[in-house]
Amino acid sequence: MVEEIYTIRCKSCGSSVRYEAKQQKLKCPHCGSEEEIPFSQQGIEEIDLEKALQLAQQERTELPAHKVLTCRTCGAQIACKEARATCDFCGSEAVSEAALQSQPIRPQGVLPFAVTAEQARQSFQTWLRSLWFAPSDLLKRTRVEDLRGVYLPTWTFDARVWAQWSAIPGYYRTRTETYFDSETNSHKTRTVTYVEWGPPVSGIHQDFFDDLLVSGLTTLPTRYLEEVGEFATTSDLRAYEPAYFLGWDIALPDKELPQAWKEGYKHIHRQTEAACKRAVPGDTHRDFHMNLHLSGLTTKLVYLPIYILAYRYGDKPYRVVVHGRTGVAGGDRPISWIKVLLLVLAIAGGLGLLYYILR
Ligand SMILES: [Zn+2]
Ligand SMILES: [Zn+2]
Repeated sequence: MVEEIYTIRCKSCGSSVRYEAKQQKLKCPHCGSEEEIPFSQQGIEEIDLEKALQLAQQERTELPAHKVLTCRTCGAQIACKEARATCDFCGSEAVSEAALQSQPIRPQGVLPFAVTAEQARQSFQTWLRSLWFAPSDLLKRTRVEDLRGVYLPTWTFDARVWAQWSAIPGYYRTRTETYFDSETNSHKTRTVTYVEWGPPVSGIHQDFFDDLLVSGLTTLPTRYLEEVGEFATTSDLRAYEPAYFLGWDIALPDKELPQAWKEGYKHIHRQTEAACKRAVPGDTHRDFHMNLHLSGLTTKLVYLPIYILAYRYGDKPYRVVVHGRTGVAGGDRPISWIKVLLLVLAIAGGLGLLYYILR
């Protein structure tokens, strides 16, 4: 119901305030009064993974929005104040609006926005201009004003890693051998490379993952977060407070914890395997085995600040993300194959000319 919506009223004039990234305070759009949100990191709890996986009914939150936009193309659900024609996450126009029915799981913490929409736009345009092989009309086609600030639900995982590995190391060796060349009817020598296998080796690798992030939104894979650098959840995270959401879009998590943990586990396994393989002596190896043991597993749900622009180019969706606290931009880059071809031709032409001169 609209009347029950979470809001904070301005102490001077009674208007609904919003959270401003520039001041990092609540600000009244009507009279300009500002109000601090008390800084708190209390109650940010790392939840035991086993326990969290069993919790069917997690605590719900109350969002400062009463409308939810559902995208029929990518499935994203975005709680927002005002309706719009396209989906934040894929640019599709197949969106429909409804009243927010069920509230999402209550997050443990939130990283509030510190980059303004204007700063995000500049960062986005600079990034776009720096792309070498982007089509020339890309700047004109992308509507930078569509860049939107949205809180992204994200799962975090902590894990202590203990891994035991074993392998047979190989060393590249060379030897000179003599062979008979039938063309010249003579004996010749050549150098051949071979692998000398050593005795089996083994070792132990220990590691700690602190706040490994996994996107809680299926349509936006975690790699988009990795593209724009670290989110300082271990130091800057605030205790969840819906006031930070006032005036902003909020994506509703649609990736359940078991699925998110599957991805997190895969990431830990891959990283650990790579670290163990680096520890194998020699130039190559075979019969690699690893026993991975994880302990101290904990999780929490947090909301991260990102600006996102989804645009369609040649009928394909492209997403650009700007970090809501550092302004770093990254994402998909459309490639103009004509530009690539021209460069290849130019290099080929230059080489041809060089050959002609030096001949
Ligand atoms: Zn006011
Ligand atoms: Zn979509």
